[in-house]
Amino acid sequence: MGHVLFLSATAAARWIRDHGAASIMAGLVERLEADFARWPEFDAAPRLASHSPVGVIELMPVSDGFDYTFKYVNGHPANPAHGLQTVTAFGVVADVTTGYPRFVAEMTLLTALRTAATSALAARHLARPDSRIMAMIGTGSQAEFQALALRETLGVSRLRIWDTDPRAMAKFIRNIEPLGFEIHVASSAADAADGADVITTCTADKRRAIVLDDSMVEPGVHVNAIGGDCPGKTELDPAILRRAEIFVEYEPQTRVEGEIQALATDHPVTELWQVIADRSAWVRRPEAITVFDSVGFAIEDFTVLRFAEEAAGAVGLLEPLDLLASPDDPKDLFGLVMGVDAPLPTA
Ligand code: NAD
Repeated sequence: MGHVLFLSATAAARWIRDHGAASIMAGLVERLEADFARWPEFDAAPRLASHSPVGVIELMPVSDGFDYTFKYVNGHPANPAHGLQTVTAFGVVADVTTGYPRFVAEMTLLTALRTAATSALAARHLARPDSRIMAMIGTGSQAEFQALALRETLGVSRLRIWDTDPRAMAKFIRNIEPLGFEIHVASSAADAADGADVITTCTADKRRAIVLDDSMVEPGVHVNAIGGDCPGKTELDPAILRRAEIFVEYEPQTRVEGEIQALATDHPVTELWQVIADRSAWVRRPEAITVFDSVGFAIEDFTVLRFAEEAAGAVGLLEPLDLLASPDDPKDLFGLVMGVDAPLPTA
C-alpha cells in the first residue's frame, strides 16, 4: 500500500521538547517571513467555515504551484468546560504534480507554533523595537507560545497577565516562570495593559466581547489581537481600531472574521505581507498605535507544515502511514481488494 509520512501528536510534542519551542519558532519566523515576501505566488482564498451555535469547523487550503496544503481546524470556546480544547487541528501536504498527499500532521501544536510565530513576525515589523513589556489578556493554550515567540523575536521579557479564570493564570505561571520571565499577575485587563509596550489579546468567547477598552491603549502601543477570529467574535473596542493603523493577513477573510468586522467595509487596512515584501512601504511613527488583527491564514499553515516535514523528518520523528490504496496496476483498483491478505492492525 502507499505510505505517506506522519507526524503524530506525540512526535510533535517530542520535537518541540527536544529542540525548544522558542528556537523552533525563531526558525519558523524566518520561514514565514520568506513566504510572506513571496505572497503573490500563492493562490490565496478565504477559508471555508462551517458555523454552529457553539463553534466553527474550518478548512484552510492553499498552494504555491508546487505544494498544496490544507488544515482542518475547529474553534469551540465552551469546550474547556467539558474537558476539551478550544482549538484542535490536523493538516496535509500534497505534491501538485501528482496530487498525491505525502505528509500528514497533527496541527494542534503546530497551530500554536505558527500563530505565535506569525504574531512575532508582525511585532518585528510593526511594534516599537524597544518594546520590553507585554500585557497578555487570556492565558489559555496559545499563551506560552505567544510569550516565547515575542521574547525570541522582539526581546519582550516582562509580562503582565490577566485571565478571567485564575486556574489559567496559575497554569501559565507554572509553565513560563521557569523559563525566565518576570511576571506581574494583574487584577484586571486595565491593570495588565498599564505601561505595556505590546498588548496581546488571546481570549475565547463566541460573542462580540470587549476585553480591551479604548482607555487602556496608550500611543506607541502594538496590539496583537489573536482571539477575535470569527463572525460575531471580537475582542477590541472599535474605538481602538479607529485610532490605529491596522494590519491584516488576507483582507477578504479578515473583513468577515477579524476585529475590523466592526468597522465600515472600506476602512483602510494594510496586508502584512506588503510591509514585509517592501520595507519602504510603511515606516512606524513612535506614537502610532498598531493593531495586528490576526485571524490565522492558510499560508501560515503551509509554512509550518513544510517546516515540520523537513525539520522533524531530519531527526527521524516521522512514521509511515498506510493512507493510500496503491495497486500495482493503476487501473486495477478492484484487484487490490481481491488480493489483499495482510492482517489489519488491531486498534
Ligand atoms: P483557550 O480556551 O485555551 O484560552 C482562552 C482563555 O481566554 C481562557 O483561559 C479564558 O478563561 C480566557 N478568557 C475568556 N474571556 C476572557 C476575558 N474577557 N478576559 C480575560 N480572559 C478571558 O483558547 P486558546 O487555544 O488559547 O485560543 C484563544 C483564542 O485564540 C481563541 O478564540 C481561538 O479561536 C483564537 N486563535 C486564533 C488564532 C489565530 O491565528 N488568530 C490561532 C489559534 C487560536
